[in-house]
Amino acid sequence: MHYLDHNATSPLRPECLSAMTHALGIGGNPSSLHGGGRAARAIVEDAREKVAALAGADADQVIFTSGATEANNLALFGAVEGSLDGEDSKKVRITRLFISAIEHSSVTAAARKVAERFPWVRLDILPVTGDGVIDLEALRVALREGKGRALVAVMAANNEIGTLQPLADVSKLVREAGALLLVDAVPAAGKIALDFSLCDYLVLSAHKIGGPLGAGALVVRREAPLAPQMVGGGHQRGLRAGSENLPGSAGFGAAAHILADGEGERTRITHLRDHFEAALKAAIPEAVIFGEKSPRLCSTTGFAIPGLTAETALIAMDLDGVMMSGGASCSSGKLSVSPVLAALGIDEALAACGLRASFGWSSTMDDVNAAVASLVKLRERARNKEAA
Ligand code: PMP
Repeated sequence: MHYLDHNATSPLRPECLSAMTHALGIGGNPSSLHGGGRAARAIVEDAREKVAALAGADADQVIFTSGATEANNLALFGAVEGSLDGEDSKKVRITRLFISAIEHSSVTAAARKVAERFPWVRLDILPVTGDGVIDLEALRVALREGKGRALVAVMAANNEIGTLQPLADVSKLVREAGALLLVDAVPAAGKIALDFSLCDYLVLSAHKIGGPLGAGALVVRREAPLAPQMVGGGHQRGLRAGSENLPGSAGFGAAAHILADGEGERTRITHLRDHFEAALKAAIPEAVIFGEKSPRLCSTTGFAIPGLTAETALIAMDLDGVMMSGGASCSSGKLSVSPVLAALGIDEALAACGLRASFGWSSTMDDVNAAVASLVKLRERARNKEAA
């Protein structure tokens, strides 16, 4: 099997499995005061420290969630609701949401719902360039209108094509305008250094870095508005009620800890990605790599082979034991035209051929070679069909 779909989920690292197995054996609720509870609490808080370090933040700023989808929802609904006046007359109501056109659906859909639920909030989508990078001029103009009342969402790097976003520039513009910044750092975590001081809300997911599915975090600046969306007990400073996911946080912490010293892994992944792209272009010169001119994550290649549709390619590659995703968003097993490729101005016919190879800790050169060989074979087959 050749698994090149780490941006969908990265297989569980053995170190994470050990940490989780150990945590499962503890048998205490982190909120209990007895010895079992204290042992469980120690594991959760150790994980919180490790996840905070990955984000460049402090442990008390980390709220564990059920994943990045929940964290993005919590940030968007929580910020807008938390900015309502209440007793704090200093609070400024958020009335504008500006989100980049290449955000994940857990940001886009949540932002739409926020604008529906709070009718005084207006949502605007910020364009990206043809190279998959946010248009800073458009952000500057938007912030002129939204000054002091806006929440901006720009991801650290895109999950489909890997383009890195100019977060330092975005942050400067947002700060100058007195607005708030949400950064979805899911695909970027562990691949680039994250600097939480640039933003107000930062989102992570454990399963994209070799931790378990169903664990994530929202990292929040202390003064940033945030109303809890899950109420019940007073867990996690009252910001996210519910007994913490003990094995999930242990596995998340273990993955974050490995990545604190992840330079070797990053170099290896970069080498695999570069080899994949070079071999692909050498064998199939008409292949298009999306966002190629932009700085990109070491782990992600969004590409298309004109004439070879993603649907055909994914099924045929699977028969060869090669696993990838469509560049088109593939949620609930359905392929549809990718909003990311549409935002780049890629025409529909080429976008329908969009594929994504994503590399991670378990990827090998053998996987890369098998993927290229399978693609070359499919392209030949597609050509022969055309000629017949
Ligand atoms: N944001 C991005 C950029 C993602 O790629 C994903 C996962 N596809 C998510 C958020 C949602 O993460 P989770 O699966 O942890 O809910």
